[in-house]
Amino acid sequence: MPVLVMKFGGTSVATLDRIRRAAKRVGVEVAKGYDVIVIVSAMSGKTNELVGWVNETSPLYDAREYDAVVSSGENVTAGLMALTLQEMDVPARSWQGWQVPVKTTSAHSQARIEEIPTDNITAKFGEGMKVAVVAGFQGVSPEGRITTLGRGGSDTTAVAFAAAFGAERCDIYTDVDGVYTTDPRVEAKARKLDRIAFEEMLELASLGAKVLQTRSVELAMRYKVKLRVLSSFEEQSDEAGTLVCDEEEIMESNVVAGVAFSRDEAKMTLVSVADRPGIAASIFTALSEGGVNVDMIVQNISEEGRTDMTWSCPTDQVMRAQKAVEAAKENGVINYQEVIADTDVAKVSVVGIGMRSHTGVAAKMFQVMSAEGINIKVITTSEIKISVLIDRKYMELAVQALHDAFDLDKAA
Ligand code: ASP
Ligand code: MG
Repeated sequence: MPVLVMKFGGTSVATLDRIRRAAKRVGVEVAKGYDVIVIVSAMSGKTNELVGWVNETSPLYDAREYDAVVSSGENVTAGLMALTLQEMDVPARSWQGWQVPVKTTSAHSQARIEEIPTDNITAKFGEGMKVAVVAGFQGVSPEGRITTLGRGGSDTTAVAFAAAFGAERCDIYTDVDGVYTTDPRVEAKARKLDRIAFEEMLELASLGAKVLQTRSVELAMRYKVKLRVLSSFEEQSDEAGTLVCDEEEIMESNVVAGVAFSRDEAKMTLVSVADRPGIAASIFTALSEGGVNVDMIVQNISEEGRTDMTWSCPTDQVMRAQKAVEAAKENGVINYQEVIADTDVAKVSVVGIGMRSHTGVAAKMFQVMSAEGINIKVITTSEIKISVLIDRKYMELAVQALHDAFDLDKAA
């Protein structure tokens, strides 16, 4: 039997009623002759609640216990989905990550999947089971502890199962009907894309578009998993949603495919560090060892042998970053006057594979910022994206202005 992976996000399993709707969608695919692997998220809001409980109990928590708590939301929905399917006379059972087992690294709260043996589930399909409902987001470490894959990790679970089982497709059911040129809540003229290239999706996801976890797109690209994003709230045809696919499968596309943004950025500056060889190495080694994900970096002009070093990182890592540089200062590894954290910034980016062959995208982006009177604090670029850090209060304005300027409301 061909295998299909169907993943339901938090809003698609938010209530018993929605679980029933999702189960009906699964029933439709079973009727077509598929063996289905369903991956479920926790009910929407549940993971946030669990994370909140952990933080309140222990701000600098033991990540192994964080995982023990935070993985539990998916256990509930997996069991409920299996029960709902059984009520519809569809032979189904649930699997927690460790039961499959989804083997991961021991990097708690950010674990990576290393291997998914297929024999257990395949044997059950052989015995007439039609649906394996798997709790997303979780796995088991070599030490036998429960791990989680980072926020949004159920997407990665889904793609990894699709790759392991050679699934015909991996359908990601969510609360939007596809991938948009930008978030429609910020720009009403945002347009749904029928197709988007893996690389563009990868950039958009890593830049803050929350529709797919970055890692899931990386995996899909590596294993050529046909990935489809679609809504669980609408009747669906086989052509619905957005297909994330190889560049070659897309005929026409705009130079810029989309505008992404991220509110959860902080800008940090070390004031007056010695401008000498090795200083960047010392600072960023300290940050990396402190578990800080540094994104953008600028080194300011040096005066009298001193310089300022600025970087951006997620807002919730500011405390870690502060601790890391303070410790490095105490140990005499670096020396600085003070460390400043600006948590009122946002990152706005434009992304498109068309940038490889078209010039002028950066110039146009900066002109748009200038025309709106928005000051740019930090800039970074790659082959297919340009990002700027700006004051958070201008984020929506910047997204709308860029969407307009690059004509993203019109198809290519
Ligand atoms: N429930 C987890 C989260 O919210 C994983 C997921 O839904 O993908 O991050
Ligand atoms: Mg998600």
